[in-house]
Amino acid sequence: MTGDRVYCRSLPARPAGNPRPARAVFAGDDLTTKDPLRIMFDRILGIFSRDIGIDLGTANTLVHVRNRGIVMSEPSVVAIDAKTRRVLAIGAEAKRMVGRTPANIIAIRPLRDGVISDFDVTEQMIKYFVNRVHDRVGLIPRPRMLLGVPSGVTEVEKRAVRDAALNAGARWARLIEEPMAAAIGAGLPVSEPSGSLIVDIGGGTTEVAVLSLGGIVVSRSIRLGGDEMDQDIVTFARREYNLFLGERTAEDIKIAIGSAYPGEWDAQRVTLRGRDLLTGLPRSVEVGADQIREAIEPSVAQIVETVKDTIEETPPELVADIMDQGIVLAGGGALLAGLDRRVAEATQMPVHIADDPLTCVARGTGIVLEELDSMDRVLLADTYSRPPR
Ligand code: ADP
Ligand code: MG
Repeated sequence: MTGDRVYCRSLPARPAGNPRPARAVFAGDDLTTKDPLRIMFDRILGIFSRDIGIDLGTANTLVHVRNRGIVMSEPSVVAIDAKTRRVLAIGAEAKRMVGRTPANIIAIRPLRDGVISDFDVTEQMIKYFVNRVHDRVGLIPRPRMLLGVPSGVTEVEKRAVRDAALNAGARWARLIEEPMAAAIGAGLPVSEPSGSLIVDIGGGTTEVAVLSLGGIVVSRSIRLGGDEMDQDIVTFARREYNLFLGERTAEDIKIAIGSAYPGEWDAQRVTLRGRDLLTGLPRSVEVGADQIREAIEPSVAQIVETVKDTIEETPPELVADIMDQGIVLAGGGALLAGLDRRVAEATQMPVHIADDPLTCVARGTGIVLEELDSMDRVLLADTYSRPPR
């Protein structure tokens, strides 16, 4: 389906002659604690505990455990009782409820637009996932946690994610910007003095970033992603056929025959099932892949424009590097048929789809946790630790 495939280059080894003394300070040490017993205790726990990386996506949350790989991938959805605010279901079970809930149950996507709309629910979700991991891989005493957050989130939101991780039992919690984690997971040489361009298309956000020497040089983040394309399909069905489609149905259609460029998929057709807005009765219509492409075009065009804008702002040396290496697409949106060709045509650059684009961020957090000494630079500044009791 896609022309170019996997772009994978292994990460550079730790630079020779790393001036840092080997493990003079434990990366996981809580430096705000003076109590030597406590430090000792934490170190002993550290030997047994596993590091956990979490991709807190707007559509999906993935958990990576050191030496185990990705142990969980669930939709970032929480169903709660509207009156008592009690959590009824989380993950896939909650997603099945979207659009099917009675008045007293609401299905929330706490990160929907890349911002944390509900702190409590987000915290409950993180706790739930971490507890599930405990159940699956045995006891993990006070793990270190690295969490990917959308690059646009505010200080308050970062603090909320950090607190949620610490409340969920983390001994140490740090944050990484998602495009950075995605690039590392995709195998881009982010630590080298060479430009890499990553486009991470999620459910609620699209992030474009140019990375070099372990930092983000230029980035753009828009609150538009796969969800917007689903909405485009809902709008299209209403406008063209007076047909009222559910959001979930629209997503299924996008995944089945959505595309961003003409191609061999154009012969496909699909049946839209919804409610007729005039008669109020169920009805189905058959549409072609080209119609769906037109329907989602406004969102696709904005994503492509964002990539072009980012390149315009990029220093020329880095643009030359990106020309050599190509643009890398990650996130679920990278799976949209023909998007690679579309971006390649618009930017006149080679484009590659990352290997397994849905898991890039989670795999990236895993790599960073393993190489923490040399990759410290790629993380967001603060080390948050549990305050001394
Ligand atoms: P996030 O990081 O925001 O949680 P993901 O990277 O998990 O998002 O991607 C989820 C988005 O990708 C959803 O909008 C989903 O509909 C979309 N998606 C998943 N698979 C495909 C596909 N094959 N074609 C197009 N879009 C897809
Ligand atoms: Mg993501």
